[in-house]
Amino acid sequence: MVDDVSRAFGEFLALRNVSLRVPAGMVYGLLGPNGSGKSTLIRILCGLLAPTSGRATVLGLDVAHHGEEIRRQIGYMSQRFALYEDLSVRENLEFYAEVYGLRGARRRARIDAAIQLTHIAPYIDRFAGVLSGGWKQRLALGAALMHEPRVVFLDEPTAGIDPVARRELWDLLFQLAAEGITLLVTTHYMDEAERCGEVGYLFLSRLLVTGTPDELKALPAVNGPHARRLEIEITQAARALAWLRAESYCPNATIFGQAVHAVIDRGVSDAELTARLEAAGFEGVRLREIAPSLEDVFVTLTEKATEAQP
Ligand code: ADP
Ligand code: MG
Repeated sequence: MVDDVSRAFGEFLALRNVSLRVPAGMVYGLLGPNGSGKSTLIRILCGLLAPTSGRATVLGLDVAHHGEEIRRQIGYMSQRFALYEDLSVRENLEFYAEVYGLRGARRRARIDAAIQLTHIAPYIDRFAGVLSGGWKQRLALGAALMHEPRVVFLDEPTAGIDPVARRELWDLLFQLAAEGITLLVTTHYMDEAERCGEVGYLFLSRLLVTGTPDELKALPAVNGPHARRLEIEITQAARALAWLRAESYCPNATIFGQAVHAVIDRGVSDAELTARLEAAGFEGVRLREIAPSLEDVFVTLTEKATEAQP
């Protein structure tokens, strides 16, 4: 639970009046450009950094007063690789078991559970430093789960790893959520955001929006009353994009796969748009009204927030 939290670094406000709530067992996705405050918020929630104002609690504990107790009950995967490259996979897991004070049978059981969950057994004696990015992240996740935390914070866990490894890591995250673990994950990937129960979007230190992906796509701010969003299948999509962008009734357009996604004033009907495109020499025009993607949502909100800046 985050209630009206701000955090200053000197004169600079890295977070400005941020409020959000993550229900237990949810995968919550936090998005935002670099420098928007994502890591700062995670460090606050891990009790590593105090809010300058406002209040935040994790598992009912106030981050400003119970940091140590919180850290005993949460898992944290920081943005930087937090493992020892010159230790083997097993030694890394043993190290984390030690850090969390695990002993005897429980220690062995937790190390085995981490190996099972992450399927890392084939690499158990390799140095962590020579693992691929995807396996490093799995190992880091296994280490972060050593003490059976009920809440886990993951700061850009999939940055720089390949699509298959990304998907496998997300499958792991959903497996954890199904077990009732709450996860807060930062990411830059829209496909990952689409899979979250709820997402929040930070921009210039402010949380511009939070909600389920469907709620965000239905926001009035994103779906202006005067325009529709169309998928335009067309030969020569790239040239059609440039042409459409110059038209006064098309405030926004982009390429998506083989098609153009365009915002078109409601005053221009499908038939009229098709006729104009054909008159301009384009062929094979097929129109379909579409819902905005999360990327559309964030782009639109970013533009509005930028316009609102003094
Ligand atoms: P993100 O994770 O979204 O990329 P961060 O939370 O890391 O953003 O940083 C937000 C802003 O706060 C950045 O401009 C960063 O330079 C600044 N910042 C973060 N930590 C500190 C710090 N310890 N001292 C001064 N400025 C910081
Ligand atoms: Mg960050």
